Amino acid sequence: MSRHFGQRAIVIGAGIGGLSAAGALSSAFKEVVILERDALPDSAVSRAGVPQDRHPHLLLAGGLQALDSIFPGFEQDLANAGAVPVDVFKDVRYERPDVGVLPQRDCGTSLLCASRPQIEYTLRRKVVAIANVTLRSHSRVTEIAPAAIRPLVRFESDAGEVDAIEADLVVDASGRGAPTLGLLGALGWEQPHETVVGVDISYTTAVLRPEGTSSNWKNLVTLPDPSISAKAGLIIPLEGGRWFASISDHGATDRPKTWEEFLAAANQLNTPEIYNAICRLSPPDDLRHFVFDASRWRHFERLERLPRGILPVADSLCRFNPVYGQGMTVAAREAKLLREILDRVAGEADPIEALQAAFMSEVGALLQAPWNIGVNADFAYPTTRGERPERYEESRQFEAALFRAIVADPVVQRAFSDVLQLMQPFELLNEPDIRQRIEAHALMPNA
Ligand SMILES: Cc1cc2nc3c(=O)[nH]c(=O)nc-3n(C[C@H](O)[C@H](O)[C@H](O)COP(=O)(O)OP(=O)(O)OC[C@H]3O[C@@H](n4cnc5c(N)ncnc54)[C@H](O)[C@@H]3O)c2cc1C
Repeated sequence: MSRHFGQRAIVIGAGIGGLSAAGALSSAFKEVVILERDALPDSAVSRAGVPQDRHPHLLLAGGLQALDSIFPGFEQDLANAGAVPVDVFKDVRYERPDVGVLPQRDCGTSLLCASRPQIEYTLRRKVVAIANVTLRSHSRVTEIAPAAIRPLVRFESDAGEVDAIEADLVVDASGRGAPTLGLLGALGWEQPHETVVGVDISYTTAVLRPEGTSSNWKNLVTLPDPSISAKAGLIIPLEGGRWFASISDHGATDRPKTWEEFLAAANQLNTPEIYNAICRLSPPDDLRHFVFDASRWRHFERLERLPRGILPVADSLCRFNPVYGQGMTVAAREAKLLREILDRVAGEADPIEALQAAFMSEVGALLQAPWNIGVNADFAYPTTRGERPERYEESRQFEAALFRAIVADPVVQRAFSDVLQLMQPFELLNEPDIRQRIEAHALMPNA
């Protein structure tokens, strides 16, 4: 694609959302500048600006595919960095309270499991290798100044030095959308309506070395019956032959503070599988905690107008409950959408306006399915706050039948796997053949 979208695009934030957007934009602008407030390490280590990076970050197959299409060779680089291949569901022990363990059938999809710092570092190396992308660390954006034609982004260094750059397009991937919200405030324009679903999830994570253990799974998920317990457990491999073991607790007020308390919490999960897998391992160096209060969709896409050249993306636009592992994948898929739109609108008289309009009108559909998957599951917990989605009871009944069908029918399991991994739209489960297979199980008594 020729670079006739303009001289410069600025991306605020070098998280997964910002890095993927920068890659998508690089062929359309003469220059792409990423402004990041953190120091960016030259290795795969945690950093202050993304405190969640010390917890498991599952990159779904749809995200891996999207990143590999924007950055050819990304998947290979991640594998070379030690990411662990996991075949869905062959290597996954997925335990549910209603149907038990899902069959470990091969559904034809592979993931790569790695730590968030490793995923981000691999991506960052891809981005900085693009000749016209500049990544400026220690650059905290303080405002996007209102401007008639080209937005002006002001930022400051750690030493307090202030600078400003003009751009044709500003992508807000700062995680909270503060620069865009500030700009709307400065202009006196309408702020986006927010859909908020309060979950108050407390995460406790241990990094473990699973020496000497053997099992028929690489990834283990234990879900509770939400009417009895709010504790879910997860084991996921990461580079360096290690495991993340996490316990999440909906609406929790307390959390395990010692390894003994962590083991006690693991022992309260719906099955003993996680406890048995970790109880004889050496204790971790520390326990990591995170509290996630609410999923939050800021409906920028519903606003009648957005300032010219401003595009909020990824968590700035919609922040998902992390237990469903969707945030990075959705961010990568938004970047892929951005790139597809760039191709489509390149010939328009005002391509910046066309890009903004098309992205904002199409991104809602991309967000809706992962949002529904998470929110429908969240409302099974009595402590969840917010407005239940429309036709909630119907979707719960559909889900109950779906899981019974998954156990019995490999075709349904494969379709579910593709939808869960955000590779296929949710409508796949409503296609006549699949729907019929699922409905056949709606009538059967719960096993
Ligand atoms: C506990 C937890 C676990 C998670 N697990 C998963 C998972 O398993 N799978 C998954 O896909 N997702 C997971 N997520 C979500 C995932 O972290 C994000 O959705 C994803 O990284 C996309 O975020 P982002 O790039 O929009 O924002 P972030 O990753 O938050 O990055 C924002 C960046 O912007 C920078 N920044 C912020 N303000 C400024 C400013 N003013 N100026 C300059 N720079 C700025 C920050 O330093 C940061 O680098 C999890 C989240 C949490 C909280």
